[in-house]
Amino acid sequence: MSASIIQIKNLYYTYSTNKKNVPVLHDINLNINHGEMIAIQGKSGSGKSTLLYLIGGTLKIKQGEILIANQNLCKLNSNELAQFRQKTLGFVFQQFHLLSHANVLENVLLPLSYSSTPSSTSATTFNKSNQISTILPTILNTLGIQDVVSHFPNELSGGQQQRTAIARALINDPQIILADEPTGNLDSKTSNEIITLFKELKAKNKTIIIVTHDNEIAKECDRIYHIQDGIIIEEITNKIAYQNNQTFLSNIATSNIVASNNGQQNEQNKQSFNSKYNILNLLSSVKKNLKQNKIRTLLTMIGITIGVASMISMVTLGLFTKSKVIESFSELGANIVNFNGYRNWELKASDITPVMFESFSYEKDLLPLKRIFPEIMAFTPTMMDWNVTVTHGANILEKDIRLNAMSADGWNIIEHKELLKGKYFNNFHVDDKSAVCIIGFDINKNLFKDDDSLGKIISIKANGDSQFVCKIIGVLKETSSNKDWLKPNNTIHLPFTFYLGNSRNFWQSQIRQFLIKTNPDADIELFGKKIKLFFEKKYGISGKFFIGYDSALLSQMEKVLTLFTIILGVLASICLTVGGVGVANMMMVSVAERYREIGIRKAIGASDQSIRLLFLSEAIIICFIAGIAGLFFGIVIYESIIFVASSFIPKIQFEWVFNYWALSISLISIIIVGILAGIIPAIKAERLQIIEALRAE
Ligand code: ADP
Ligand code: MG
Repeated sequence: MSASIIQIKNLYYTYSTNKKNVPVLHDINLNINHGEMIAIQGKSGSGKSTLLYLIGGTLKIKQGEILIANQNLCKLNSNELAQFRQKTLGFVFQQFHLLSHANVLENVLLPLSYSSTPSSTSATTFNKSNQISTILPTILNTLGIQDVVSHFPNELSGGQQQRTAIARALINDPQIILADEPTGNLDSKTSNEIITLFKELKAKNKTIIIVTHDNEIAKECDRIYHIQDGIIIEEITNKIAYQNNQTFLSNIATSNIVASNNGQQNEQNKQSFNSKYNILNLLSSVKKNLKQNKIRTLLTMIGITIGVASMISMVTLGLFTKSKVIESFSELGANIVNFNGYRNWELKASDITPVMFESFSYEKDLLPLKRIFPEIMAFTPTMMDWNVTVTHGANILEKDIRLNAMSADGWNIIEHKELLKGKYFNNFHVDDKSAVCIIGFDINKNLFKDDDSLGKIISIKANGDSQFVCKIIGVLKETSSNKDWLKPNNTIHLPFTFYLGNSRNFWQSQIRQFLIKTNPDADIELFGKKIKLFFEKKYGISGKFFIGYDSALLSQMEKVLTLFTIILGVLASICLTVGGVGVANMMMVSVAERYREIGIRKAIGASDQSIRLLFLSEAIIICFIAGIAGLFFGIVIYESIIFVASSFIPKIQFEWVFNYWALSISLISIIIVGILAGIIPAIKAERLQIIEALRAE
C-alpha cells in the first residue's frame, strides 16, 4: 500500500519560446505512494500545472526523471506515452475541457475510442451494451449525472460539467488521477461535493494529485506540497487528513463507487469493444465537425467538385475528340501500318546488293515478320485493282468498281466489312486459291436486283486483260466512306492467292503492299520505321520501302491530339489543385479552431496517429464526397457538349461516353488531393503540444 507509485528525481523544466527561455521548475524531487492523495499549492505562475502535465506525460521531460508505476516516462515514445495516459491516468481540469459538440455520454466514453491493442478473440461475443451495462452506470450514478447523459455541456451547470469530466477520467479505471484546480470554477457547495468525490476515489485506492488553491481540499489530502517559483519550499504531512480518511473509509466501505477491474476477461472484452468503437467514433466525430461548419464545408467542396468535373470532362472530351478525328481521317484505323515496297529502278549494274528486291514474298518476307515483331496482331498482303468490269449474265457493271485481294487475316484489318449475308473467305479458301468472292452492297444491288446472289458465279475482267470467274459467298452491308475515291459498296474482295494466280498483269500480280495491325499500345510511327529498317537491311538499295501516307500522318496527328488531351488534363489538374488548396486551408483553420479539442483528446490518451487520422479522414471524406459530385457533374457537362456538338456537326452523333482512363485518372486525383490536403493540417494537429492546446480558447 505504501509502495511509491510516482517518483520524481531532479526534475527541471524550462519553456523555450521565441529564443527566450523561461525556467519554471528547479530540482523537483517527489515520492508519492500508491493510494495517497496529494495537494500541490502555490501562487499562480509558480509551476504547478507544468509539474502536473509533466507527470501526465503531456510535456516532454528535458532534464530529470519521472518514474510512474515502474515506467520511466523519459524512455517512452509519444505512442507509448499516449497509451500510458490512456491506461494509467485520468485528467480533471479547472475548465472541465469537455468536447462541446458531444453530449455527456459521448464525452464520458471518449477515452474508450483511444484504447490500443485491439483484440479480436471476443469481438463476436461481446457487445457495446455489455460494456455500458457493467462499468458505465456505476460511474454515472456515483457522479450523479445519470439523468443528463444526453445533454450537451452548455446545458449543464459547472458542477455537472466537472462531474462529467471526472466520469471521463474514470471510465478507463486509471490508477492515478491528476486534477488541475478541479474546483477553481465552482461555487463552494459544488466544490464540497467534488471534494467528497475525490475522497471516495481515494478510498478506492486511487492515487490522486490535486493542484488547488482551495484549502478545504488541501485539508483532506495526505500531504501538501508548496511550490514557489518552481521550487518545493514546504512539505506538510497531514495527520488529520489521514485520520479523517480512516473514518471515511470505514463509512463507505460497503458502497460501490467505481467498478473495479473484473480480471482478465473484462479487460479483453473492453478492448474488443474499443476497437469497434474506434472507427464508429472516428466517423461520427468527422460527421459532427463537417455538420458544424456546413457552409464552409460546402464552399470548400465546390472547389473540389469543379476541379474533378473539369478533370473528367476535359480528359474525356480530349480522348473523344482524338478518337473522332482519327476515325474520320482514317479508313484503316489508328493502329494499322500500310507498308509498300518497290524495286529500285535506278539501280546501276555496279551497285552490289546482297539480295535483289522484286516484290514481297508471302512466305519469305511477310510470314517471318510476326515472329520478329511481337507487336504485330494481324497482317495481310493487299492488291487493289481500280479498273474492273464485273458481269453476271447480261448485266455488266464497269464504273468505279474496285477489287481488293487479301488474306483471311485481312478481315481483321480493313474497315467497311460488315456482312449482310453469307460469310467471309477463310484460310482454307486462301490456301486453296479458291475462286470465291465477297461483294459490296451496290454491286449486289445493281447486278442482282432482288435475286439472291449467294452461290452465283460472276465474271471479272481486271487490269491487263486478266479475266476470271468466282463464286459469291458473301455480301457486305451498305456503308459510307470518308474518302471519295474509296468505294466500299462497289468493291469485290478476293483471296489474294486466287488473284495472284489469275492476274496476267505483271504489275498487279506481285505483292508490293501489305497492311499490319499492331497491338493498341504500340507506337505506330516507331513501328513503321522498324519495319522499314528491317527491309532496308535485308535488301539494301535494291528496294525502296515506305510507310503509307495515311499511317504516318495519322500517327503524328494522334501524337498531337494526345498532347492536346494532356494539356487539357494539366489545366484541369490545376483546377483540382486549387480545390485541394481550399480543402487544406479549411482543414488548417479547423485545426486552429480545434486546438482545445485536440489537446483534450491527447490528454485522455489519443495517440498522435489517431489525431492525424481524424484530420486526414476529414479531408479525404470531403474530397471523396465532393469528388463523386464532380464526377457526376463532369459527365453531365461532357455529355451536354457532345450533344450540342452533335446538333451542329452532322458527322458527330450523340453517344454515351465512359472513358475508363479519364475516370481512373479522376478517381486517383481525388484520393491524392484528399491525402495531400489533409496531411499538412493533420501533421500540424499531431505536433500540437497538449498544454498549449488546452490553454487555447
Ligand atoms: P501555475 O499552474 O502554477 O499557475 P504554470 O505551470 O501554468 O503555473 O506556469 C508556470 C510558468 O511558466 C508561468 O510563469 C508561465 O507564464 C510559464 N509558462 C507556462 N506555459 C508556458 C509556455 N508554453 N511558454 C512559455 N512560458 C510558459
Ligand atoms: Mg495552473
